[in-house]
Order: sequence, then C-alpha cells, then structure tokens
Amino acid sequence: MRAPSRLVIATKNSDKVREVRAVLARSIPTTTVVEGLEWDDVDETGSTLIENALLKAMAVVAATGIPALADDTGLEVDALDGGPGVHTARFAGPGASYEANRQKLISVLTDTDNRSARFRTVVAMAFPDGTAVTAEGVLEGEITRGERGSGGFGYDPVFSVGGRTLAEIPEREKNTMSHRAVALAALVERLNNPTTD
Ligand code: IMP
Repeated sequence: MRAPSRLVIATKNSDKVREVRAVLARSIPTTTVVEGLEWDDVDETGSTLIENALLKAMAVVAATGIPALADDTGLEVDALDGGPGVHTARFAGPGASYEANRQKLISVLTDTDNRSARFRTVVAMAFPDGTAVTAEGVLEGEITRGERGSGGFGYDPVFSVGGRTLAEIPEREKNTMSHRAVALAALVERLNNPTTD
C-alpha cells in the first residue's frame, strides 16, 4: 500500500484541517487533498481514540469514495487519572467552547502540583476497498496554571512543552513535533512500508 494520489481530510474542524494539510504537504507532497466535499456528521460513539478515528475515516470514505484520513485526539492528565481522554472535546459539557474547556481544566487542577499530561492522536486512513491503516502520536507536556500565547487552538494555551505553551510556539514548529505530526509521520511510514508494526 502506498500513500494515495488523493485523499479527503475527514474532519470539519478547520484548525485540524490546517495542521494536517501543512504536515502532509511536506511528507506526501504528491498527494492531492480534495476539498469541498460534504458528508453527514459522524457521532463519535467509540470508547477509544482508535475506534473514533476509524468510525470517522470509514464513514467519510463511504460517503465520498475517496481515501479518508481522520484524526482523533485526547488530552491525558495524570492528576485526572488520564482524563479527559476520549472526552476531551466535551470536557466542560456537550458543545463546550475551546475556552470553556481550558477554564474547566485550569480550575479542576488548581490544588495540585502534578501538572504532567500528554496529547495523544490516533490517525486512521480508510480506503474504498474497506481496508484501513492507523497510527498514533504522543506529545508529553504540562498543564499551566493560566493561559499563555495566541497561536494554535483548543488546549494549546494551557499545554506547555519545554517552558513554552503550544500557543506560544509558531505553528510551523508545532507541526514538526506535535502529537498530530508524529502520528501522521508514523502513518506515512506505515503506508510506505506496510510490514512495519
Ligand atoms: P477530537 O479529536 O475532535 O475529538 O478533539 C478533541 C479535543 O482536543 C478538542 O477539544 C480539540 O480542540 C482538542 N485538540 C485536538 N487537537 C489539539 C491540539 O493540537 N491542540 C490543542 N487542543 C487540541
């Protein structure tokens, strides 16, 4: 199996689309990202990141007939026993804004010095023949006590790596080391070398 000549990014989150496109433009520059397609929203009913990534990729390849690349990401906070994990998008409730989620995180961690956390991304590429390939990327860091920086999206202003939050790190640099970039690099490697575990 090789990287397809064209694919669709199976998300309606424009922040994810921007980052995935930037990473793919470097790693598989001959692949065309097809835009402007429509599909029904996919309910993330899985209990793991991999289940949800596969659900999204499979639904979008079925709707479009084009290889579909999905991303499911969770934030795992040690002081929260690995939560919010698969519930990261709705930590502050269904439909919560990025800001509401960040503020809830800061507030529930007020009384602890254990700030360790990681982003985990699973990417899944589903093909029209029913096959799929998945890969994972992890970025270790710490949850800050306040928001810093204006770049990125989601929890970036409260997730710090080596003293800077992801929102303080230029997007170009984030896209070389983020959980998403690591997952996509592993996926491309797996597509190019199908025997790699
Ligand atoms: P999902 O993968 O669409 O379920 O999103 C999970 C949640 O993690 C959403 O609230 C996103 O905003 C957040 N998220 C995903 N990727 C990132 C990232 O790279 N930085 C910060 N937050 C992220």
